[in-house]
Amino acid sequence: FLLHQSRFFTTVNHLKDLPREAWHEVAFAGRSNAGKSSAINVLCNQRRLAFASKTPGRTQHINFFTVGPEKSPEGFIVDLPGYGYAQVPGAAKAHWSQLLSSYVQTRAALRGLILLTDSRRPLTDLDMQMIDWFAPTGRPIHLLLTKADKLSRQESVNALRAARATIARYDEANGTRQLSAQLFSALKRVGLEEAHAVIEGWLRG
Ligand code: GDP
Repeated sequence: FLLHQSRFFTTVNHLKDLPREAWHEVAFAGRSNAGKSSAINVLCNQRRLAFASKTPGRTQHINFFTVGPEKSPEGFIVDLPGYGYAQVPGAAKAHWSQLLSSYVQTRAALRGLILLTDSRRPLTDLDMQMIDWFAPTGRPIHLLLTKADKLSRQESVNALRAARATIARYDEANGTRQLSAQLFSALKRVGLEEAHAVIEGWLRG
């Protein structure tokens, strides 16, 4: 797997500092606490990779990781700042939404968005906001319904069905066909193969 060779590249807080669009990239977005860092770490087979993004001062930044061989990387994994922190002041929120919306709307190298949502909860307004920002690019969005280990078999079937119904309604209302969803658990390593296939397909595509 490309993702199994990954390393921290840079952290960015302003659009002008984004790295050159050298390779395809795949971005990870989600509400804080959705399980984004855990998912990136398990997908990249590294225990602490994405926790670089959680060090003080970097939580509101965009963090880039290269994937592929160290001497000749083949893509970027991009860890977007988690959203929905209650305590973040208005000015920081405004900066966040400006940085995030501009990045996902204008970044040509961004081939697809992985959106992480807690499988026990419905999609939030901020999740829908991310989808609204990115969907007009015509690129795909894949939902990881996280922490699926916390659900019974029947509950996880229901959660996947509900997410797919939301997606279908969205696609129908917007005339798009770019959303997909799967169950995921970093803890129990559920859905790793499916997620790898999606991400590596986008990076190599
Ligand atoms: P982030 O804020 O989105 O980066 O979320 P984290 O990856 O830091 O996870 C938030 C919390 O959820 C932590 O307490 C994790 O241990 C927990 N968590 C993350 N993934 C899983 C999972 O697959 N299963 C369970 N049961 N807990 C998880």
